[in-house]
This record gives sequence, C-alpha cells and structure tokens, in this order.
Amino acid sequence: MSNWPYKLATELDTPERIHGTINHGPDDDQLRLGLYCEEASHAGAPWFICSFMPNYGLLEATGDLQWTVSDMYPTGTSALISLAAVRQQLLVDDKPVPVDSRGIPKTEGRARTEGRGRWTFECQTCGRRNNYKTESFQEAVASLLRAGIKEISLAGLESMVKRTSK
Ligand SMILES: [Zn+2]
Repeated sequence: MSNWPYKLATELDTPERIHGTINHGPDDDQLRLGLYCEEASHAGAPWFICSFMPNYGLLEATGDLQWTVSDMYPTGTSALISLAAVRQQLLVDDKPVPVDSRGIPKTEGRARTEGRGRWTFECQTCGRRNNYKTESFQEAVASLLRAGIKEISLAGLESMVKRTSK
C-alpha cells in the first residue's frame, strides 16, 4: 500500500470501460508516474492515459536511466490497470511506429531500446492533447518522482515540462 492518494485507490475503482483488463501482478517498481486528464469540464471523471516508467532495456544496455511510456496505470494497491484505450503515436525518424490492435505502439527493437520518438498523450473525454519528444519529458518525470509524486494530470505535466526543459 502507498500513502499516495491514487485516483484509483483499488482496482475496483476502475471505470467500466477498462474493467476486465486488470493485471494482478505486483508492481515491483515504485518508479512509476501515472498520467491522467481531469480538466474542469470533466472534474471527478479523470481519463487515464498511461504511465511513465524506467526504460529497463536501455538501462541494462547502457546504464542510462531514461523514462519511457507504459500502457499500465498504477493504483493504490499493487495492481496495475491495463489501459486498453490508450492512444499514442510514436515516431522514430519522423515515421510512425506501427500500433497493435489496441493502439499501443509496437516499440520493440530500436525504438524501445532507445526510447526515442514523439508521443501524443490525448484525453478522449475533453480532447486535450500534449505532444512531446521523449527527451522533453525526461527531467519533468524525474523531478516529479523525486518529489514523491505518483500521478500527474496532462495540465500538470505540461507546466512541469515547461519548467524543466531548457
Ligand atoms: Zn480531459
């Protein structure tokens, strides 16, 4: 259990649209930052987008800690929720990476190892959309996790990226 007041205190709080996609395995890394949207137009009904986690492939290969995107969303228990409806577009060398049937980028090989590209984080409730290159959100994610933050809104991430990017 965590002291962080997760939007999803338990997997039972998961919205109906993503019921049935619960991963009961323990989240063995505490290094995970959830990303959601909860603009004033849909206060109380957050749209869960993705989470950020260490790129372990890159870490093993090079020793560099870099943050990458996961389709799993953290909850107040050890359960992670699989976000079947997350939409991301990963560009590598300005070419879109193919996505699977759920819209998740197939980021095997170089794209996953290097963790580079352009991500679109979109709320399907209000349409708010942030676009970032992988390098743009590195310091923001690291700073938030260092501060003990476990979840951030699209708007909050945007202001953090502005504050931390050079
Ligand atoms: Zn929204």
